[in-house]
Amino acid sequence: MPDEPFKQLSQSLIKLHSNMKPTSREAVIETGLQYLRNVGSENICKVCISNSGSCCIGCRHLSDRVGCQRRNTSCTAWLCGFLNYLLYELNLLEEWNDFWNEVPGQKFRRDVTPEYFFMSKSLSVPNFRHLSEAFAADLEELARKHIAIGFILTLREKLDKNMERLELSRNNPTYHSIIKRTIKELASPFHRFHEALDEYRLCTAKRDKD
Ligand code: SF4
Ligand code: SF4
Repeated sequence: MPDEPFKQLSQSLIKLHSNMKPTSREAVIETGLQYLRNVGSENICKVCISNSGSCCIGCRHLSDRVGCQRRNTSCTAWLCGFLNYLLYELNLLEEWNDFWNEVPGQKFRRDVTPEYFFMSKSLSVPNFRHLSEAFAADLEELARKHIAIGFILTLREKLDKNMERLELSRNNPTYHSIIKRTIKELASPFHRFHEALDEYRLCTAKRDKD
């Protein structure tokens, strides 16, 4: 619970910046983790990790069979190529990035985020488990078909690089559409995912119309 001086400081700052709300390091980490749980990211991670793709490899905070011993804002905010792509297709990437851009003190595999700070953005926690389950099933099939070591890792890195290029090419329409095409090609083997995505988009469009 925030202490009294923090409450007083919050109240005066809220008056100055009415769109800013007090939050805590712990709360944003929990929001991020809950969000990823609802998106069903662990389905994708499971396949990725069993194909030697874990993004925690070599981290001194990783404890064998226990997991991460130092959850931080930086690792929670970070999205690999697969998760980046997933949120991009769901039109949620911008919201995610806007939220984390407001969280100060993110460092590589650690943070110096203050215990309490102010933010204007929030994250609405979605539920897309069926989409990530479809994505994970496609990924598993790909791993079975391409037994070469590093295939899943290379695919993830390629998606990651192109997702980054997509963001950087916003002001260059020609390059932007070339990158969009490349991403589409890279993601073309994800058949189950695309089927589930089409269904989801149809349902969303119908709901918005009604
Ligand atoms: S790289 Fe991505 S899919 Fe793989 S374990 Fe890390 S977050 Fe999960
Ligand atoms: S600090 Fe980050 S990289 Fe290290 S184990 Fe935790 S989540 Fe993984």
